[in-house]
Amino acid sequence: MNIILIAPPAAGKGTQSELICDKYHLNHISTGDLLRNAISNGSSLGNEIKQKMDNGSLIDDEIILNLVNEKILDEDNFVFDGFPRNLNQAIKFDELLNKCNKKIDYVIYLKIDKETAKMRITSRYVCSKCNNVYNIKNLDNMMCPNCHIELSKRSDDTEEVFDNRYDTYMKETYPIINYYKEKNLLYEVDSSNEPSKVFNDIEGVLND
Ligand code: AMP
Repeated sequence: MNIILIAPPAAGKGTQSELICDKYHLNHISTGDLLRNAISNGSSLGNEIKQKMDNGSLIDDEIILNLVNEKILDEDNFVFDGFPRNLNQAIKFDELLNKCNKKIDYVIYLKIDKETAKMRITSRYVCSKCNNVYNIKNLDNMMCPNCHIELSKRSDDTEEVFDNRYDTYMKETYPIINYYKEKNLLYEVDSSNEPSKVFNDIEGVLND
């Protein structure tokens, strides 16, 4: 089973991807995590992309498609978190899947209004080791419960960058919802609810 999650920033894509992967034994591919790893490894690719990520713009399609291509060649059963992010990536991804005899089974659109998503940004912290995202309101301290290291803020998780990321999402990513609707692959889930309720609704889609 291969699943794509589409959502505006701070809608809970990462959290829901982890929950889906755990329950259904799928592999998690977050293009955002792949890019952040490239930056923290100090690679030349990392230097090129950091500035764009920090101001909420999309990274070039060719770089993204290469990263995804490398990951999916030998394996199946993925949750794609944050990819595809525009129409060109969606079309090129279909070509790539065809070549490898793979297909997408579900595209889940996590729907949330801009203000609710923006409010989540202020309390959102991440673990730099396991990449898990936490709402600090649900924690007793600022430590990652898995890795026991201090949580930090993502450099693009500020209110100003959020506005750019949201605008980019509306302009570039939102149109692919229609692309997948026309292929009868799209399922909509209300992501303004608590994560457990959102996951319940996703299970309802996947168990149908
Ligand atoms: P995310 O972790 O999904 O919120 O992504 C963080 C940032 O990484 C985005 O704001 C983009 O700058 C970049 N990014 C992640 N995935 C993609 C993609 N598929 N295409 C282009 N840029 C991406």
